[in-house]
Amino acid sequence: MEKKLYLDYNATTPCDPQVVDAMKPYLSDNFGNPSSVHHAFGWIAKEAVETATNKIAHTLGICADNITYTSGSTEAINMVLKSFCKKYKPNGTHIITSKTEHKAVLDTCAFMEKYEGVSFTYLDVDTSGLINLDDLEAAIRPETILVSIMFANNETGVIQPLREIANIIANKDIFLFTDATQALGKTPVDEVFEFADFACFSAHKVYGPKGMGMLYCKNIEAMNVLQSLIQGGGQQKGLRGGTINTPGIVGFAKCVALSQHDLLNESNRLERLRNHLEEGLLDIELSFSNGYAAPRLPNTCNVSFAFVNGASLLRGLSKDLAISNGSACNASSENPSHVLTAMQIGSDLAFSSLRFSLGKYTSEADINAAIKIVRKEVKLQRENNILWERRKF
Ligand code: PLP
Repeated sequence: MEKKLYLDYNATTPCDPQVVDAMKPYLSDNFGNPSSVHHAFGWIAKEAVETATNKIAHTLGICADNITYTSGSTEAINMVLKSFCKKYKPNGTHIITSKTEHKAVLDTCAFMEKYEGVSFTYLDVDTSGLINLDDLEAAIRPETILVSIMFANNETGVIQPLREIANIIANKDIFLFTDATQALGKTPVDEVFEFADFACFSAHKVYGPKGMGMLYCKNIEAMNVLQSLIQGGGQQKGLRGGTINTPGIVGFAKCVALSQHDLLNESNRLERLRNHLEEGLLDIELSFSNGYAAPRLPNTCNVSFAFVNGASLLRGLSKDLAISNGSACNASSENPSHVLTAMQIGSDLAFSSLRFSLGKYTSEADINAAIKIVRKEVKLQRENNILWERRKF
């Protein structure tokens, strides 16, 4: 299949060749199981896992003990939310989250609401995508045990104010979980480790391998809440059974280290390119940027085009351009994006929105090409839309 121009880095990223090289020995010669304590194959693997874990901890400024490896953010999210449900009495527990969370959070909440009797408050966001801190304060009840608010949104890049959120729940025996999947490698994440009790990450969003991620727990108090989703074998202090993924962990450590190297320069470069793209797209008549008024990730923009059918626009673009109309996990949904709907964007504009997400292999030439491609396709779509014609008279 012919390669297309790729601007869908929030969906996933290619594995960096340096990550592949780091992983290779642990897929072949050093294939041992880190739990095999009676021979050198196991010792080598165990050492590799320990070295990689220390490297991640050192790079992110956290403790190695605070890391639990998972298959990615979805598993880490399930683990945190369901741990709270198991640990605290299900009836009477209350969790606050927001309407713009990733489906990995929202679907887990819906499951717990239906089957476990946990009660949830879903905070609204304003038109720029930010939660209202007064609403958060007002939603707190005596039985509230957790606030789960994402750090950076995958569709718009909007960044929620973690410091202020943490201030509101301080001294209230409420934990803070943040889904930081999209932030790593795009913007500094110190705030996440400073203010959140739990956070999740996926390696494949940062040029690492798929099926690899981690749950961060701030301290022993947070760790004590955690319960295993997967029993068997007692690995990872009994928190996650199953043979430890040595190559995945080694690859994760490599991509985390690469992601923090020169982060500010890369983030500035991405922001310049993203702004250039956004300006080019907003030059198209009746196009609107979603989420631009809030602090946001430097690599993401979300633009709606009036008088265009979003599905046929995406179909038309797909021969030249790899982008999406929202979350990759939800791409086949026939409903408009729940994120844009929560931002009070009407369903027509929400349906005609495109998410562009740039990455480390994106060049200025790519952006110029993308602007041209979108401009041409929007024009074509509108020429075939009777409403566009009528609007002129
Ligand atoms: N959270 C956010 C914000 C995401 O963007 C994604 C993936 O798109 C996830 C969670 C789930 O990550 P994974 O599919 O790697 O488990």
